[in-house]
Amino acid sequence: TEQLKARLFEIHSVAGRFYHEVLQSDEGTIARSYMEGRKLQPNISRKFGLGYAPERRGALMEHLKEKGYSIQDMLQSGLVIENKEKNGYHDRFRGRLMFPIFDPQGRVVGFGGRIIGKGEPKYLNSPETILFSKSRNLYGLNFARAARKKELILVEGYMDMISLYQAGFHNVVAALGTAFNQEHARALKKFAEDIILLYDSDEAGTNAALRAIPVLTANGFRVRVTQVPDGKDPDDFIKQNGAVEFSKLLVNAVHYISFEIACIQKKYNLNNPEHRVRFATEAADILSKLDNAIERNVYAGEVSRMTGVEEGAIRSEIDKRVQKED
Ligand code: ATP
Ligand code: MN
Ligand code: MN
Ligand code: MN
Repeated sequence: TEQLKARLFEIHSVAGRFYHEVLQSDEGTIARSYMEGRKLQPNISRKFGLGYAPERRGALMEHLKEKGYSIQDMLQSGLVIENKEKNGYHDRFRGRLMFPIFDPQGRVVGFGGRIIGKGEPKYLNSPETILFSKSRNLYGLNFARAARKKELILVEGYMDMISLYQAGFHNVVAALGTAFNQEHARALKKFAEDIILLYDSDEAGTNAALRAIPVLTANGFRVRVTQVPDGKDPDDFIKQNGAVEFSKLLVNAVHYISFEIACIQKKYNLNNPEHRVRFATEAADILSKLDNAIERNVYAGEVSRMTGVEEGAIRSEIDKRVQKED
């Protein structure tokens, strides 16, 4: 299988070059104007090896055949698939803007393909293969590690990662359309100690951020959270507001506990005494999970100020819960 693996690396590299060349050709005009619309610069397109998968059903397959690769290897790569009628094969990716996915060493191990304009699915990814697993590979890690910062910004999507990179923020990675998990955390751990979580500020993004937090903290990361305003994503924001405004969002990132507390606070009306009780109680639940007694104390103060409940009362609720766990 080491030999197979080597051939699959080759196939991905050849495919990446193929898509990238198609992007520069007449066939790629539509993708180039799409990229222009999204303000992706040509130098970034080169750096990230962006490409275009032609509409023709067997475009890549024919190219790979000419280069001498067998249909078995093509199938193993996930880039070619069998027809529904089982009477032949065709390319997985057609008519899409192609994002090569690199491993931390910078080898292409898979692709994400975005539809040009509207349609479903918006993004199509390589399937799980010997080289690629979406629960392991993080988009941009090969670039982010080269930035040599101990702090990494974690975003949702391809375009968020690339946009931030283009704007000069090189320590960015994305978990691609899948929940951030243990394996992702372990992959990041080699390169970073601090994480700034920057997911989309819609409901899906907020919930995904809340789920990522325990995974990150369990792996020993210091975690802060920030969001762009108005339900947008980082790509939208930085294109509208520029790098200076974006830097302010990073500076204003809050400790994950503050983020969690702010999230539950939205469920309650703090003018209502009953709601104040429920909110402060739920906040005590969250704070009791902090290992550090000083942190528990600091954030108990925050909840006290939000609710007008005496800090001592909040602290004693927290202490009760801490003791139960011990
Ligand atoms: P764009 O800006 O191109 O519209 P996005 O990155 O803002 O895309 P989101 O809907 O916020 O898209 O999704 C975040 C990420 O989740 C995407 O970048 C992609 O990796 C993944 N994703 C989104 N839709 C799908 C899908 N239908 N299938 C698989 N993965 C998807
Ligand atoms: Mn999203
Ligand atoms: Mn987007
Ligand atoms: Mn988004």
